[in-house]
Amino acid sequence: MVLYLVFRLIVLSMYAGGIHYVHTERTAVIMQRFRNPFTFVIKKEQASYSGVKCTFCCEQDCYLLAVWGVPVYQLFELLHQSPRDLKNSLTTLAKDRNFSYKCKSFNDVLLLKGGEEKTMVFKPHKGFTKEADIKPNEAFLRTSYPFVAIMLLQDLDITENLVIALVTAVHLPDEGLLLPVQIVGQYVKTSNGLVSTVKKIYLTSPESSRVGRENIDLCLACYHRAISAVIIPCGHACVCTTCLELCRNCPVCRGPSYSYFELQNIP
Ligand SMILES: [Zn+2]
Ligand SMILES: [Zn+2]
Repeated sequence: MVLYLVFRLIVLSMYAGGIHYVHTERTAVIMQRFRNPFTFVIKKEQASYSGVKCTFCCEQDCYLLAVWGVPVYQLFELLHQSPRDLKNSLTTLAKDRNFSYKCKSFNDVLLLKGGEEKTMVFKPHKGFTKEADIKPNEAFLRTSYPFVAIMLLQDLDITENLVIALVTAVHLPDEGLLLPVQIVGQYVKTSNGLVSTVKKIYLTSPESSRVGRENIDLCLACYHRAISAVIIPCGHACVCTTCLELCRNCPVCRGPSYSYFELQNIP
């Protein structure tokens, strides 16, 4: 009996010292929603160094540029320009073959009509050599993206919260890096000038989260709707907009969710 009481005391003292109930005051956050007018889909089975097939769509008229062998730091420089400078850079890029971004190969800037869905194959320019342009450095790190697709709204006189540019960097497998075709970086620029990264959540068993043959990633909260929101500032793409309204923090990194932008997927 005495032993039992001693044991109880030890257990009780363990609980008293081990568990803390912390009551935190929660403040309501009014989330800002950035509408995303862009859709970009890459046909993975038709993407190689001989050409990349992609489908583009935008609710409004937009510029479209596909570039081969873009140095990573130069892409970031481009992304952080003011929206108007970014527009100028794209248009000069089409005319000036010795553009400061030193992209040796590119297609012309195309204008995509609002609401029009366009599927195109972008072939590298003759001057592009994958050995010279995207070769990994001494640390086996690649300093240039093999293929980058840039979409930018033509009309930048925007009053609403909107995603104004979508930049997608694509990895293509080669002798240097055998990883399959994939989007290695996706960046959005919003009308307030912010640049965010989209961090997709790759589940351990992708098949379980896919709807039929469609490549739709399901919301990690409801497992019912497709992932449709990218949380700002962390950039995690993990829930649908309905579930996000109920989340005060990002379900992945627990970071705050001040605002979000929508992901667009071709149905
Ligand atoms: Zn959901
Ligand atoms: Zn997060």
